[in-house]
Amino acid sequence: MTTLRIADGRVLRPDHTVERADVLVDQASGEILAVEPEGEGRASADDRLDAEGSLVIPGLVNAHTHVAMTLLRGYADDKPLDAWLQEDIWPVEAELTAEDVRAGARLGILEMIRSGTTAFADMYFFMPEVVAAVEESGMRALLGYGAITVGNDDEAAHQEMRDGLDFAEGYDGAADGRVSTAFMPHSLTTVGEDYLREYVPEAREAGIPIHFHANETAGEVDPLVADHDERPLEYADDIGMLADTSFLAHGVHTDRTEHELLAERDTAVIHCPASNMKLASGMAPVQAMRDRGVTVGLGTDGAASNNDLSLFDEMRDAAMLGKLAADDASAVAADAVVEMATQGGAEALGLASGRLEAGANADLAVLDLDQPHLTPDHDLVSHLTYAASGSDVRHTVCDGQVLMRDRTVQTLDEQAVLADARERAQALIDRAES
Ligand SMILES: [Zn+2]
Repeated sequence: MTTLRIADGRVLRPDHTVERADVLVDQASGEILAVEPEGEGRASADDRLDAEGSLVIPGLVNAHTHVAMTLLRGYADDKPLDAWLQEDIWPVEAELTAEDVRAGARLGILEMIRSGTTAFADMYFFMPEVVAAVEESGMRALLGYGAITVGNDDEAAHQEMRDGLDFAEGYDGAADGRVSTAFMPHSLTTVGEDYLREYVPEAREAGIPIHFHANETAGEVDPLVADHDERPLEYADDIGMLADTSFLAHGVHTDRTEHELLAERDTAVIHCPASNMKLASGMAPVQAMRDRGVTVGLGTDGAASNNDLSLFDEMRDAAMLGKLAADDASAVAADAVVEMATQGGAEALGLASGRLEAGANADLAVLDLDQPHLTPDHDLVSHLTYAASGSDVRHTVCDGQVLMRDRTVQTLDEQAVLADARERAQALIDRAES
């Protein structure tokens, strides 16, 4: 057994209290051995991370993104979802190569490691490239191929769904178990009903989790209601898409009936506040969902609609937007937001992460508290939600391995990742615009 001690810091416990303690990690199993309060006998460890003057938190979980879209960051902004997708994003995505996706995934993972994220859920294309980037970077991820049938003929549509299932079955457990997979039909409007009815039961029977976009815009909800004479999530449930292993992105335009259904099925919602604001999609009723017992996680969505992958920005946005949506300053409070970014996301993805306690995955981040914007320290949970930034993260640990030590990423060559991403992003745009 090789051990790692995260020493002399203050540790955020699962109940959101903070205590002075060390975190002892078994690097072979990738699990936390103990959280040892000050004064207890402290055996030596093989490696040590200094956490003096710092806060040790569970690694953040980015529970919905399209990581390779980092290559499109800042390419097209300030447009509504439909026009943005059709005029800007889809034409560029049509030119994407496997090598581009690898470069974009590396860039996004580098950004996430540097901002304290240790797990993410990704829906995109060329997913074996994302698996490879996860493997080399040391991150944890739940991955799926985003299957779309609209615009495809019947044969191509079946192939999309088959590709989604094949990826999920073929790559589950990759990267020494750090990769898990899901079947990811893109959304309730971009995949036809016949295809959902054929392939969703197959995924369920094989025990494969399901992830999809739902109820993101009013323009998407209204036709579904008109066509099916029921709410979109009632339609999804009728097809068998809601289960305790399922999680959906957005849930902006959802009503009480749908919240009760989500709670009953134990299906998590991934809230993406920055994307919802930037695309003017609407305000998700996060407090109402939590009040009904729905598990809520946080996601950045793709970098092109955010435009960064820092969960700290997402936490602040979630708190602010949640209050506005509920018309109540006490709604979506700081501790609820921290829970969403850690335990909520981990639960949605089926991970034993998001909690600093013995037996949990050793996925954590260490934040430097010795900074003007984090002083004084009346309430560190408040700071996490309202004042901290990704750049405050000193060390990042995933599966017991140190991915970043004193702001230096250990698993990726940072300058090479940036140079490759710049070059590929430019060539991609040149191809799309030629
Ligand atoms: Zn998305």
